[in-house]
Amino acid sequence: GRTGASELIADALAAVHERFRDLDEGDVATYIPELATADRSLFGVALAGVTGSVYTAGDADVPFTIQSLSKPFVFALALMDRGLAEVLEHVGAEPSGEGFSSIRLDPVTGRPPNPMVNAGAIVTTSLVRGASEEERFARILAVLEAFAGRPLDVDGRVYVSESETGDRNRAIAYLMHSTGALTTDVEATLDTYFRQCSVLVTTRDLAVMSATLANGGVNPVTGEQVVDEVVTEWVLAVMATSGMYDYAGEWLLRAGMPAKSGVSGGLVSVGVGQFGLGLFSPPLDARGNSVRSVAAAHEISRQFHLHLMHRP
Ligand code: GLN
Repeated sequence: GRTGASELIADALAAVHERFRDLDEGDVATYIPELATADRSLFGVALAGVTGSVYTAGDADVPFTIQSLSKPFVFALALMDRGLAEVLEHVGAEPSGEGFSSIRLDPVTGRPPNPMVNAGAIVTTSLVRGASEEERFARILAVLEAFAGRPLDVDGRVYVSESETGDRNRAIAYLMHSTGALTTDVEATLDTYFRQCSVLVTTRDLAVMSATLANGGVNPVTGEQVVDEVVTEWVLAVMATSGMYDYAGEWLLRAGMPAKSGVSGGLVSVGVGQFGLGLFSPPLDARGNSVRSVAAAHEISRQFHLHLMHRP
């Protein structure tokens, strides 16, 4: 039978899913045409403890493209490959106060503000080691799979859709090439970035991936040490300051947890040393964060006193 604690968690997830499933606000992303076909009623909630127990409610096993939720995990790989000092030569660690597709670079250094917005994430992708672009992508896919604890596929239609309509990311990447923040081949790097964003995951995967960050880099389901513990500290710090784009400050104020959102409607949030939370629902608010996911994460944080500044 279930222990008291696991029953409490399962019931809390079911209750939060029930409470927000009818919150029918926001709009599904359309700037990547293929994302516009998403079912706006989907809503998944999942929590993975550092002990390896996974709890879910709603549509937790429906696949969707990872999009910006790939950014913290690929940032972790770049940090493993290059170390903090070299990564920071190419991308900053300051919240931008701007949307995810902001084109603004640091006027002095030419670096993008942080690895959680598109500009910084394109640079992060370029910093992953690989003798060829194929090898670079293979290593990115492998690390996402290690975080999730299972093999993952790429959604070819979303990849093509994003690549065909990716002018803004192209403009940002060429600008960064001109400042020296991006030193690799622009088109090849963008191709890898678009593929990385098109990897299919479920809400359950997001919980296990973020639980791996919560657990010092050890996947609590497979037992694999995916990245070094110090790398998880760096990644979680940047998620806390910049993971929610121009909502990052208010998010930290209200929910008090490291988190990352993405345009397909996913959200990951981390209770350091405790668990990873995965959420998914396609309709987004004006800042590109999932309406139901944000509401549910706020509620879970409040109920379980997860605010980082909460006195232990
Ligand atoms: N692939 C998307 C893009 O680059 C990711 C953006 C996001 O999820 N916020 O536009």
